[in-house]
Amino acid sequence: MDRAPSTDGYDIDWNRALELIKKSGASRIGLQAPEGLKRALLAFAAKIEAETGAETVISGDPCFGACDIDLQLCRQVDLMLHIGHADLGDGAAQNVIFLEAGMQADLYEIAAKAAGCLRARTVGVCTTIQHVHKIDQALLALKEQGMRGIVGPAGGRIRYAGQVLGCSYASAKAVDAEEYLFIGTGRFHPLGIALATGKRVVTADPITGEVGEIDTDPLLRRRFAAISRAENTGCFAVLVSSKPGQKRMKLAKRIKAMGEAAGRQMFLVYLDNIEPDRLVNLGAQAAVCTACPRVALDDAAMYKIPILTPPEFEIMLKVRRWEDYMFDEIQNCE
Ligand code: SF4
Repeated sequence: MDRAPSTDGYDIDWNRALELIKKSGASRIGLQAPEGLKRALLAFAAKIEAETGAETVISGDPCFGACDIDLQLCRQVDLMLHIGHADLGDGAAQNVIFLEAGMQADLYEIAAKAAGCLRARTVGVCTTIQHVHKIDQALLALKEQGMRGIVGPAGGRIRYAGQVLGCSYASAKAVDAEEYLFIGTGRFHPLGIALATGKRVVTADPITGEVGEIDTDPLLRRRFAAISRAENTGCFAVLVSSKPGQKRMKLAKRIKAMGEAAGRQMFLVYLDNIEPDRLVNLGAQAAVCTACPRVALDDAAMYKIPILTPPEFEIMLKVRRWEDYMFDEIQNCE
């Protein structure tokens, strides 16, 4: 298998990775990628072995983000190549090299199309790691329509200006925009921008060419219902993920103490992947998830019990008002 690794629609600098491996002198290389890029790993492993003489080991577990470094494999290899995500800057493991995967799709056309749906003159522009290298194309398209596109700075978990993560909207919140344009796929990130900023968000998908607008009401209604269901229960599991970029043990302990002070039974539950089957036999009536916010906000329908984010649990306990609903963002993992 000596062909170049195939990653349809993505640009990945495999040669840079080979150079770094050769330069490091590493003899055991770990490879980790999200599901969408996993198919390239066999060809890349073969290429590494043929061109550097190093032995490779592929992480076969699911990988959800840069928060999800396979630390067990890291301990068994000299160097780990984590493909498809940008470094969160949390130093989770010292021997990890991040090899980003930029999508080839251009952003000019879709941004020009979305401009027709924007009402403001000053627009915050946000995107995900897959498209952020082309964000200037979107800014140019808006400029040509007489608008000013602004991007928030990198910092914290955010590696690039204008980038958002499902768990961090710091770059969006940092700009003084009247409304936002999100360029990317899916509704989770733009919902996060809308909830984190309280502003109107127009979405533009460079893959499907679709433009739309975010309505936060359906999600908020579902979250209100989940809080109400949880309120009538007494026994809560406080979920803590072992994933290095999701592990918020300090927050989990604070949530446990807060719940106990309010007369609830609270248990800390430590696990890697948070999945419905893993909660079934625990017998908890509700859960508070301190790991990835997508578990509670995006996957809720998969669970039989209500799963709340930490700010939602505060609302349930009436230490936070519903009017002050806050999207759960991960600032740090302690
Ligand atoms: Fe993405 Fe969730 Fe990981 Fe944040 S915690 S990087 S949203 S998978």
